[in-house]
Amino acid sequence: MDHHWLPRGEHLAGNIVYMLTITAPSSGAAKRTVVLSARVHPGESGGSWAMQGFLDFILSAAPDAQLLRQLFVFKVVPMLNPDGVVVGNSRCSLAGRDPNRAYRTGSRGSFPAIWHLLLVERDVVLYCDFHGHSRKNNVFMYGCDGGRDGSETRFQERIFPLMLSKNAPDKFSFSSCKFKVQKSKEGTGRVVMWRMGIANSYTLEVAFGGSTLAALIALCPMGPWRGGRAPVDRRDKVPEWHLASCS
Ligand SMILES: [Zn+2]
Repeated sequence: MDHHWLPRGEHLAGNIVYMLTITAPSSGAAKRTVVLSARVHPGESGGSWAMQGFLDFILSAAPDAQLLRQLFVFKVVPMLNPDGVVVGNSRCSLAGRDPNRAYRTGSRGSFPAIWHLLLVERDVVLYCDFHGHSRKNNVFMYGCDGGRDGSETRFQERIFPLMLSKNAPDKFSFSSCKFKVQKSKEGTGRVVMWRMGIANSYTLEVAFGGSTLAALIALCPMGPWRGGRAPVDRRDKVPEWHLASCS
């Protein structure tokens, strides 16, 4: 792992923004890049917990982590808005503006961390910005939708979140994911990176309210997941969408 930081003084309060580079030495073909960031919204500490979990995993000796390091270069900014975190803001930077509506205009003076993030090399296979959601439950993603032209890649943006839901069915809710580009979200990292050609461009939401999926899985009559099989008299309480996805 290697790291560098943005020049001191570029941020209004001079707090350091670290960018970590995580990969394995390679002698072969050039690797594609995965860009991950968190805490652009200072109050969303759940995003930091998810980022901590990711870093613990990707730096571990787990076989999957080793394979990922061999295949990709991970550029990680664990805290994009330290000024806002230090002063206890909810969504704003010290400039009093929401940095996750500023990726399109990306001025270096107002949002230096974002300006630098956009300079990361262009061969990016996946971009994901970690947030916390204050009203919903579970972990889910917002993606974009490039599928209105009927092309073969119609559902490409949905594949990675669907895989996540299959691998972490007790935490990640595919049915809570949305794939849209709303006018009000055009300045978000997710939409701007997608428009720069990164199909796998996501906002990850880690709900403050925790998971409701583990309880549903415990009720699932089609187990065997962690909760095993539900008692026969409770099977009618399992929602249709869950039965459809728990095969
Ligand atoms: Zn947020």
